[in-house]
Amino acid sequence: SGMPIILALQGAFAEHQTTLNNLANKSCTKVKSMPKLLSKLVRTPAELAECDALIIPGGESTTMALLARISGLLEPLREFVQRKPVWGTCAGAILLAESIEGSKKGGQELLGGMAVKIGRNGFGSQIDSFEAPLLCSPEAVALTKRPEEFVGVFIRAPVVLGITEDPSRPKIQVLAKISPEALPKSEDATDSTTPEDDPRLIVALRQGHLVLTTFHPELTKDDRFHEYFVLEVVMPTFSAPPTPS
Ligand code: GLN
Repeated sequence: SGMPIILALQGAFAEHQTTLNNLANKSCTKVKSMPKLLSKLVRTPAELAECDALIIPGGESTTMALLARISGLLEPLREFVQRKPVWGTCAGAILLAESIEGSKKGGQELLGGMAVKIGRNGFGSQIDSFEAPLLCSPEAVALTKRPEEFVGVFIRAPVVLGITEDPSRPKIQVLAKISPEALPKSEDATDSTTPEDDPRLIVALRQGHLVLTTFHPELTKDDRFHEYFVLEVVMPTFSAPPTPS
């Protein structure tokens, strides 16, 4: 099968689709062995069953979880994230977290999968939206092969409040941080908080086949995060050698 990706319940799915379609035209010639990259919208459990990978877009996480429940997608999605590559952007990142700050029982429903605790609207009401250059991990080839900085677009973005290290699970890798000098001032910052230790700096993480970005790479012309997800997260699941017995 191809790789139909993108969840279209709500949010910025059309922008992801445009970026993926442009990337498909580029990378099919570049990577000969690549299965055809299809970007399809996914709205039903039957459509999800056709997918080899998924992008969950930004939007509104509570609404998205509610629509997923109504469409019968919540449990299939929880199953999906355990097995197949998924990338959540912004609201999608919230859904991929295992726990969320300040949510009462019966509040926000999550898909889980990543051993992180997330906080919604982590940059406060003063700064609903901002842009900031990112520092990307050199381990992510697609993210660092061009010299210019990737500029992250943050819109009522969540923040990663904690990472649970568990040796029995894939290691959590930091893919990108905000350049410390570009971090918006926190409302409750004290003089002793140095920008370098501010937990809000971490904005992109990978854990095995799952990727989370708290910003919106689909709202910029820069397709490096899409290329990273397709080439370095999704593709290896197609070409993985048989596991030795
Ligand atoms: N604040 C939104 C939420 O909690 C996420 C915003 C976004 O996806 N741009 O779901």
